[in-house]
Amino acid sequence: MKEAARLERNTERLTECFSPFAGVLRTVLDEMESQGFRPRIQHAWRSEAEQLDLFKAGKTHVKFGFHNTVNAGGGKESLACDVLDDDQPLNSRTNYLLALSIAARAHGLETGIVWDLKAADAAPVEAALAAHNLGAPVRLGFDPTHVEVKGVSIAAARNGTRPTITGVGAGPAPVASPPPVPAGAPPASGHVHVVTSGDTLGRIAKDNGITLARLLELNPEFKANPNLIKPGQQVHLP
Ligand SMILES: [Zn+2]
Repeated sequence: MKEAARLERNTERLTECFSPFAGVLRTVLDEMESQGFRPRIQHAWRSEAEQLDLFKAGKTHVKFGFHNTVNAGGGKESLACDVLDDDQPLNSRTNYLLALSIAARAHGLETGIVWDLKAADAAPVEAALAAHNLGAPVRLGFDPTHVEVKGVSIAAARNGTRPTITGVGAGPAPVASPPPVPAGAPPASGHVHVVTSGDTLGRIAKDNGITLARLLELNPEFKANPNLIKPGQQVHLP
């Protein structure tokens, strides 16, 4: 898929999702892109009839799932997305799938990467995820491109319960005006970006044409938890 079409598709598919889920998934996509991957949301919301067809074809284990949830008015409100490797959409690469699960879990989401695996096969996958070892020779589970919310059952979600989603990108937060730069602050060698609501380090890096790793070199204070930035914080740029 051409890059512009991929980006447009992702933005369009995110509109089919529960808004806070869309926000946090956008952050996951940004982080994947900052690592050089090209994630494509293949499916977000789908109808119960489509779900039933997939169930009959053995592509899903449930007749109603997180792809099928709707809001009180019946509008699309998916709590899951299938995110393919656009560089190899028919057979997403293992390194891509491991990176997707790492990014998803870092933002409180879950994937189907260990679903249906025996414990002996799941353990090396968990070890690769914990070690961020994208090159591990592992056997993956039933549905590694599937990304879903945590903290709510499908039955509860069907009845309108929604999970609390926290973290960067989790929906619009009120933006406080950035605090003034203290008079005695050391002068930065390059530019400074003041964080606003919805920013991620991955996106800031991309917008400025540098890698996330380079950004973290310039801002070592974020290394401990690159996913936690707050409006008003300063990010140094080259
Ligand atoms: Zn799915």
